[in-house]
Amino acid sequence: MSCIFCKIAAGEIPSEKVYSDDKVYAFKDISPQAPVHILVIPRVHIESANDINDENSAYVAAVFEAIPKVARACGLENGYRVITNVGEDGCQTVKHMHFHILGGKKLPENVV
Ligand code: 5GP
Ligand code: ZN
Repeated sequence: MSCIFCKIAAGEIPSEKVYSDDKVYAFKDISPQAPVHILVIPRVHIESANDINDENSAYVAAVFEAIPKVARACGLENGYRVITNVGEDGCQTVKHMHFHILGGKKLPENVV
């Protein structure tokens, strides 16, 4: 598997870990778009949110259970934004589903 995020989750490529459990890995984005910018990924390869199904949705649930833990660990008591890009029009660059957690400042009103 040549997927960079599979390798990051497996520890084969270094990353700055923020949270980890048996189904989820969360780490700092290498090119932060906000003071806090974390990527939360499932430990199985799911290409995008468009590929969620009944066989992998337990991993998706685990990702969403992890998000508040990541937010607490990062001091995001004042709120944050969760974004997942899907496919070409969504400008998804890494084809392993990931959820961006952005915060640490008042975010622009016009993103969504
Ligand atoms: P996308 O555009 O697919 O929604 O987001 C991909 C994100 O992954 C980008 O924000 C990019 O900075 C981040 N990224 C890409 N490669 C790496 C890497 O090797 N390590 C880390 N920590 N982040 C990465
Ligand atoms: Zn992958």
